[in-house]
This record gives sequence, structure tokens and C-alpha cells, in this order.
Amino acid sequence: MTTWQIDRLDASPEQAGPDASEVPLKWAHDARTGEPRYIHDDEVVEHRCICVCPACQLNLTPVMPGQPLRVRPTAHFRHPPGAQKDACTIVAARLAATHLLQEQGFIDLPRRTMSRTATGFSGQGYEVWVEAPAERGMIGSARLLDHATAELTLDDGRTLLVDLTGRRDAADGPDGQAMVTISLSDPDLAMLSPEDIRARLRILPDIRWCSHWQDRTLAARGDEEAARAAHDALDEWDATDEADFRSRLTSDLDEATAQRWRRETLLHREVKAILERARRIATPGLEVSARREPPDEFLGEWETDTLRMTWFSPPKKLELTDVQLEQRLGRIVPDVIATLDGSNISTVGITDTWVNDDFEEEVEDTFSLPWPTTVLVEVTVTHGIDAEKLQRIRQLNIATLEIDLSKLGGRLNREALSDLVVNQTLGKRWVHHPIFSIKQQRLDAALDAHPVTRRYKERLFELMRPHWLALPVSDWTVRYLEAVTTFHDANVRIRKARRHHGDGPEPTLLGVHSDEWAQIMEAASALSAHGLPGADDPFLLDDSGLIARLLSIQHNRGVGYDVRTGYQVLNAIMQSGKHNKRWDSLYAIAVKAYELETHFTGEQASKYKAWRQTLIDRINAGDEAYLRPATFDTLLCALFPKMAEGTGRGYGSLAEQI
Ligand SMILES: [Zn+2]
Repeated sequence: MTTWQIDRLDASPEQAGPDASEVPLKWAHDARTGEPRYIHDDEVVEHRCICVCPACQLNLTPVMPGQPLRVRPTAHFRHPPGAQKDACTIVAARLAATHLLQEQGFIDLPRRTMSRTATGFSGQGYEVWVEAPAERGMIGSARLLDHATAELTLDDGRTLLVDLTGRRDAADGPDGQAMVTISLSDPDLAMLSPEDIRARLRILPDIRWCSHWQDRTLAARGDEEAARAAHDALDEWDATDEADFRSRLTSDLDEATAQRWRRETLLHREVKAILERARRIATPGLEVSARREPPDEFLGEWETDTLRMTWFSPPKKLELTDVQLEQRLGRIVPDVIATLDGSNISTVGITDTWVNDDFEEEVEDTFSLPWPTTVLVEVTVTHGIDAEKLQRIRQLNIATLEIDLSKLGGRLNREALSDLVVNQTLGKRWVHHPIFSIKQQRLDAALDAHPVTRRYKERLFELMRPHWLALPVSDWTVRYLEAVTTFHDANVRIRKARRHHGDGPEPTLLGVHSDEWAQIMEAASALSAHGLPGADDPFLLDDSGLIARLLSIQHNRGVGYDVRTGYQVLNAIMQSGKHNKRWDSLYAIAVKAYELETHFTGEQASKYKAWRQTLIDRINAGDEAYLRPATFDTLLCALFPKMAEGTGRGYGSLAEQI
């Protein structure tokens, strides 16, 4: 037996609509049995029951019961005069509805859906939906808890709260209890007959969950699925990884940075695992370019052609024979050190030449340079490779590929990342490659030999000629030798410093872009203007070139060589291979001219004597390996006048043989 006692569940009695009190009261409460009574029920018509208001508990008087066709006034229960009626009509109708619901014996409950979101390390949200299925709840008993809430006890023992206002939100149910909301609020409800209410209860189109028995389970399952989605997107990891990550944190870190580090760590680890597994990587093509702008002297003139050459080779797929992770290499710890068999990898590429952005020609390489057997792979996510690391990579001169994952965005999965690393070139870049410097030199040389550059050089030469001729040739020979000495001495000092530079940046050698080199080049041009060409020849100007060696002998100290005495340089010359003998006559002439022998020890003197005798014998025998081209003789006579007697006679020169 159901008691229709109304307990006050909370202190929020529902406000009735403005016209609710105008609505006739059709439902009452049997004071004896506690059952709801409709105005046209037999018990009411036949005066067999005492009716009270279910809301305010006052006695009610039936007016025109059993006359359903009467209007104005229609049949209703009347409150005692002066009673406050408030929401009595609605409450009474709800009471009836609840009663009829129980009579119906079931309530069709919709499915309960819930969305849960996990936020990945990248800040991306991963939303999943979980649901408990729709079901029909068999009603064991029903009671009204207050004016707006009924409590149903289902056959299986579960209780279900039914909010009768239809106004509760989807997440507004009491924690730990199931609650649905259905709209039984409109004043019309009060006017409905029992049949109409029954019909309305059978299908409840506006029924909604406020809370569900399984909410906690659903939330836990949703959280788990959302976390898995983030995990699959390489944006979240498990508790073990998190503990490991935390154990490595040195200081307390702000959360945003920690998230960034987590994501970076995760992606690094994944890429490394992919390479270790696949042992294959697609790499982008190599590309090197060089430009020549018109000399400043010609700015504003009619002819200012700009030259550009680009060499590039196609992308490659590298098969790796070994993959090592995070092994120290010199002063860097690359993410991956990959080893490969470079022997069958072609570096044949194409060189394009452009004049003023007009395509001029395309030349294909006729041979392949050797591909390095070691490739470093660096994975970057938020920060690229910094300048210091780049310098260290360049010093190691090892091919280094960067995989930049920063442009991938949030959504990612293992499969896509694996495809990217193994098969795609997107986001990849050669940070350094040993071929770069070789190709750079070739492009520079090709640009120097290009008609446009040569024309500029010739015009520049003509422009400068009066200035160069204004000084006597002897001034230029002195300047030239001083400039060469300064250049070599500086590089010897830099090489020494490089051996002791510790952790600081390695000092850079002077090269063809240095001021010191420019001094040499100007003196060489001036000598050329004076009829002494060839002073800019690399053979003369190398660290161990002809000029450095002759200066060493002349001054009895190392020039270009990090040694103390002229003999030590001579000793290096004497030990050089048999393919390098053709210039030896010049060194012998220099030793004599500058009296280097006066500084020799007895042992040095006898060693030199033996070497010199072989030289004389070979020259006398006409052995071409010991005979020099006369190319530089005139220039050298001017640079080293004391040698002029020996050189000028043509001794040891090929010219003598003609
Ligand atoms: Zn009342």
C-alpha cells in the first residue's frame, strides 16, 4: 500500500505559474486511504470519501462531481473560503500522475550518455562519449517526496528520483542517486483526465537524465577511453612513464614547460623506436647554392648581372645497418646515430645556373661522391638545433638530418608518425652534410670561371690598374710576401688555439673571405698588372704551398708550418713523396741563396747533402719527375731576388730541356 505522504525534500517549493491558481483543482487526496481521487471518481460522486488537498491538507468540497460536460464553472474541488491555494492544482495533478505511473507499472528510461575529455601534453583535448543503454524500469512502488519530486522503487531494488518540473539540467542530479526529469509542470496537466495522463506517461518524450546509477563507472570508463585516445595520439603516457619523467626533473618546473617536455620526450622516444625497428629512413634531397653579386665598384652601372648556381640531388631512402640511441659522439649526444653502407648510394645531382633569375643551363653530375657511412638524426619539437650544437655538428663533419615535428599539430598517431619517419620527407632537413662544403667549393669555382664573373674581374682589373702601376713592382712584392706571411702566421696560431680551446667554441681559420686574404689578392693583382701573373695561384698560397716553403727557408723559421726552424720545413720537403719532386730544385736554390746550411747541424748537413746529390743526379739524367714547369720562374725571381741567379739560369726547369 502506497502512502501519499508528501515529505519535504528540500526548501525549494516550486513557484506555480501566474495562472496556476486560476486552474480548477481536479485532483484530491482520500483522507482515509491516502489515494488520489479524480473529481469524477465514483467515490467522489457518491460521497463515499472525505477529500483533502494533497498540497495544503485542507478539506475540500466537490463541486459538480460526475458532470464532466459542464463548463463555466467546470467540475472541481473547492478549498475552504480564504484558503491560500498556491500551486495546489499542479501538485495534485502530479500526485495523480505519479500514482498513475505506478499503476502503469513501468517507466521507459532513455540511454545515459556522457562525454569525457582528456587533455594531452600538447594542450589538445580528446573527447569520448560513453553510455549506459536505455531500459524499461519496472516500478515496485512510488511516492511523492515533495511537490516536485517523486521517488520510484524499482522491482530490482534500485530507487529512481523523478523530478517533475522538467527543468533540471543533465548534470544536476543528487550525487550517488539516479534522477530523471520529466515535465509535469504545465497548468494543462491539472485539467487532464486520468486517461489523458496515462497516455502521457506511456511515452515520455522529454524525459532526461540528471544523474544515473552508473555515472561514476561511466565517468571512469570515459576518462580511461579519453586517456587512451590521447595516448594513441602520442600525447599522453602511462603512470610508469610519468614516474620516470618526474624522477629526472631536477627543479620544480612550471606546468606548461613540464607539459612541453613530456610531449617532446614522448615524441623523441617514439621516433627513435621507429628507426630502431624499421632501420629505414626517407631523406630529402641535398641542396647547395652559391651567388655572385656585381662588385661594389660597379653599382649603378648598366651591367649588373647577378649569378646564382644551385646543386641538388634527389631524395633518398637509406637502409640502416645499425641504429644507436643517445650515444655520445665527440661533444654532442645525437638522438640517433645511424650506420649505413654508403657504397651504393648515388649522390649524382644536377647543377642549375641562373643569370638574373633567368635560367641559363642545367648540368648533370658525371660521377658520384662517396656517401658517408654515418648519419645523425635529431628530432626537434619546439626548439630547433641551436647555434652551438650546429657548430659542433659542423666540426664533426657528419651528415645530420633534422626531423622537425613542430608543424605536425596536435592530432597524430603511431602509424602516421611511423609513415612520416620511414617514408616521407616532410619536416626533414639536412642540417649538415659532408658533401655541402665540397659542392660549395665547386660552385664557387664554377662561378669564378663564369664569363660574367671573369668579365667583372677584367673590368675591375682595368679600373684598378692605374692605382697598382702608381707603385713600383718592388713595393708590391714586399706587400705580397708580408700579406702571405701574416695570413699563414695567423692560421698557425689559430690551429694551435684549436688544439687547446676546451669547451668554448672552436676558433675559425682564416679563409678566402678574410681581410688578410683580400690583401694577398690585391697584391697578386697588382703584380699581374706589372706583368707578373700567377701570384694568386692556390699552389703558391696553400699552407704548405711554394711561397710558405720558400719563406720558411728564407727566414729560417716555419711559415705556414708550426715548426721553429727552416730545416724542419726542409725536412718535411725532403720526406715528401716521389710524385712531389718537380719543385725540389727551387728549394735547393733557396737553401743556397739564403745560406740556410749555415744553421744546419752536422747530421742535418749530411742528410741534406745526400738529398741534394740525388736531385742533381736526377736533373742531370733528365728525369722529368724532377724538372719543374717554368710557370712561376719570372714571378719568383721578382719575389725572391737572391734566388734569381739560380732560378734565372733555368736550372732544374723543364724549359732548359727544350
Ligand atoms: Zn490546497
